[in-house]
Amino acid sequence: MLAFEEALARVLAEVPAPESESVSLRAASGRILADQIRSPIDLPVFDNSAMDGYAVRAADVTSAKPASPARLRLAGKVAAGEVFLGEVTPGTCVRLFTGSPLPAGADAVVMQEDTHINPAAPGEVVILAPAGPGENVRTRGEDVKQGTILAEAGAAITPGRIGLLAAAGFGRLRVGRRPVVGLLATGSELTEPGQPLVPGQIYESNRTALAALMEGVGAVPKTLPLVADVLAGTSQALADAFNQCDAVVTSGGVSVGEMDFLKLAFEQIGGRLEFWKVAMKPGRPFVFGRCQGKLLFGLPGNPVSALVTFRLLVRPALLRWQGATDVSLPAHPGVLAEPLLNPGERRHFMSVKVDSTGKIQLAGRQASHLLSSLAAANGLVDVPAHTTLAAGSTVTVLRWDCY
Ligand code: AMP
Ligand code: MG
Repeated sequence: MLAFEEALARVLAEVPAPESESVSLRAASGRILADQIRSPIDLPVFDNSAMDGYAVRAADVTSAKPASPARLRLAGKVAAGEVFLGEVTPGTCVRLFTGSPLPAGADAVVMQEDTHINPAAPGEVVILAPAGPGENVRTRGEDVKQGTILAEAGAAITPGRIGLLAAAGFGRLRVGRRPVVGLLATGSELTEPGQPLVPGQIYESNRTALAALMEGVGAVPKTLPLVADVLAGTSQALADAFNQCDAVVTSGGVSVGEMDFLKLAFEQIGGRLEFWKVAMKPGRPFVFGRCQGKLLFGLPGNPVSALVTFRLLVRPALLRWQGATDVSLPAHPGVLAEPLLNPGERRHFMSVKVDSTGKIQLAGRQASHLLSSLAAANGLVDVPAHTTLAAGSTVTVLRWDCY
């Protein structure tokens, strides 16, 4: 049986090279950058005021205080978006607002609260406090110098990066193309949610949950019809799925029962099985294969197993497909509020709930059919075989705060 790390390495090794496409910056949220991006301009673009106030020459106001204010002649006004064509000469000042370009000749801004204008003499500004050179001035390039790297190829485009790239003037970006992933659920017991249940049937839940997970990592899920446990029907459904999609994710039918047709059906359509067992719990039966240069991920049918194996083995592949550098779930330290016991032979990725202080609890009873534990979880703790992780110990949690 393959170790989890080996299984992941083999999956990632088969992921095709990313293709890129151009999208608007607005549409780039959550996508993966195809190219390294350097800033074509300085940020701030020009020296400008951090305050509503007055542009001055610092030397004119070094000793200003309420008892002995400096008095400067008001030479003009620059709203944000305007430029002052003259120069601030000794003994003068210019009215500015936050973001107004600093006029030539000025080297500081006195904030409005430290000034006074006598209504009887509106052409004179009384300065009540000193301002040193550079005070309240946001200098050109102090945030980003022209040519600085703004983001690396393979980085996820976060809202913060979108703001930075917009400020640097990018209207469009090249990002990794989103893989279209077919979603098949096998099982003659499965009924579409919303339909009446007949005896022996259960509602199908994996495709919906997996589609949500896929969207969270930028893939395009294509939900395909339910597949009964019949070999010919399973082969046909797989063939159709591979014709329409870049990859196919199935659930169910990968164990050892005589109604588990997935592997056989896949081989019948010319697929090549790479591996179908991983030494992990949940998710020992996990099929990985290739067909027409496309990938098959055959997840176990039990919902917890399907979602955990997706997060650990499929999610990284879908991200790498788009060119992402970081493909694993973010790993954060946390402290166990209760012991985690794994008396078994296989490492167990337990579903946990980690709070904002890092305190970790089991998300509920751990069994691969218990959906309520899955719904309560926001992370996994990898508990080695034959191991108890004691309460109070610091462990690593693989987290999904959003996805
Ligand atoms: P299987 O992997 O096909 O042996 O299925 C294992 C268990 O998961 C069985 O109890 C199935 O009824 C259940 N199961 C399989 N597929 C799904 C699905 N798509 N939605 C909900 N439960 C499922
Ligand atoms: Mg089944």
